[in-house]
Amino acid sequence: MAFDLTVKEAAGRVRDGSISSTELTRACIERIREVDGKVHAVLELDEDEAFAMAAEADRIRSEEPERAAQMPLLGVPIGIKDLLAVRGHSLRCASRMLGNFNSPYDGTAIARLRKAGAIPLARLNMDEFAMGSSNENSAFKPSLNPWDLERVPGGSSGGSAAAVAAREFPATLGTDTGGSIRQPAAFCGCTGLKPTYGRVSRYGLVAFASSFDQIGPLTRNAEDAGLILHAIAGHDPMDSTSVPKPVDDAWLNLNPEIKGMKIGIPMEYRRPELDPVITAAWDEALKKLSSAGAEIVEVSLPHTEYAIATYYILTTAEASSNLARFDGIRYGLRVDGNDPYTLNSRSREAGFGPEVKRRIILGTYVLSSGYCDAYYIKAQKVRTLIRQDFERAFGSVDAIITPTTPTPAFRIGQKSKDPLEMYLSDIFTISSNLAGNCGISVPCGFTDNPRLPLGLQVIGPAFREDTVLNIAHAYQQMTDWHLQFPEL
Ligand code: GLN
Repeated sequence: MAFDLTVKEAAGRVRDGSISSTELTRACIERIREVDGKVHAVLELDEDEAFAMAAEADRIRSEEPERAAQMPLLGVPIGIKDLLAVRGHSLRCASRMLGNFNSPYDGTAIARLRKAGAIPLARLNMDEFAMGSSNENSAFKPSLNPWDLERVPGGSSGGSAAAVAAREFPATLGTDTGGSIRQPAAFCGCTGLKPTYGRVSRYGLVAFASSFDQIGPLTRNAEDAGLILHAIAGHDPMDSTSVPKPVDDAWLNLNPEIKGMKIGIPMEYRRPELDPVITAAWDEALKKLSSAGAEIVEVSLPHTEYAIATYYILTTAEASSNLARFDGIRYGLRVDGNDPYTLNSRSREAGFGPEVKRRIILGTYVLSSGYCDAYYIKAQKVRTLIRQDFERAFGSVDAIITPTTPTPAFRIGQKSKDPLEMYLSDIFTISSNLAGNCGISVPCGFTDNPRLPLGLQVIGPAFREDTVLNIAHAYQQMTDWHLQFPEL
């Protein structure tokens, strides 16, 4: 079936002419019609535009072969999280605040996807302004987990993960500020890559916490993640934090040879309260990697216990400042008032959902005079300690392997009343955002009843996406977890 193809297969078949981009796009759209009523991953889709882009891809293939040869993703539809600017389309961040905003331009990652020939298709559901771990904070209907429609797909890129798992798209783009690519990838049984901070330009990404946010792919396997990373990465003058390092051709030809690699297991992550099914899948995966010749050693990340507190101080501080622009005057929903203060507070009251308000209030508090030193400045210092933990560990190992999440996908409503409980679902992912390194989540097993996917996280040093992709690929050569799909 055309909707079953990976990115690599789809691009290969468009190239050799055995399928057209129009057929591929039609297969995606039909699949969305068939299953999206159940998973609610897609917020907006312009079919006419999709077919026009596909027809143009088919024309380039037949009439401009030299140009086509420079377009590795020619004709492949890719779904886009509703936090990324796509020219001429709504950009709502799953919020009422941006109810009728249309983006006048393409963000850099989108422009680069187009340049590689891909078809950026649809706006995908998410937690409002990327704040959340379950998709329940979407101002629209929450996305649901394709493996069990009573469970969450994770968040905040839950729509991007559910869409790949439901085989609506061969791949999607998400963003990861504190696990929002890797955690939903784990919950939905797909592969999700968070590139190193600075690897992919944030131009055209609505900022949540600017020193954490990264764009990355959700795919069926590590090979596809490498292909998409190759298309979207690289320096961009429009984002001063994007790093002038060349994109690495090694991402296009992953090497599954891991013999002699050193893999670290952080002892602080072996928590007694960890779900035994998670520990068992982690151990099983380590056994596999060690039988392929990797050496498994213990490492220590001693400041792990401070990661959640540090993350929720720093990201809320950045969010309170980033979201100040949605004031009913410059940007966002406007509810009139007799004076600017009333207009501003009424607009923000009506436009933002409860979690976004909670974060703005927390962030404003930790930055306020008198508290800034005790919270914000202190958290910055702890962030440095967390980064140093990883630097020290990476002095002796090539990568670190952990579970992606402490539990499998939880039930809708199970954690939504208790924000702290919800925040704990990011315990294994947020440290990499604090430290600025890269990480990938790959499927590593299932629970029994109900059958829910589990995720394995491979964390690498900054700018060693080649290492995490190679290990993930090696693991996927030895296992078939990533080849299993939910019935819908
Ligand atoms: N779940 C985390 C949060 O709520 C992560 C969000 C993200 O990575 N965008 O902040």
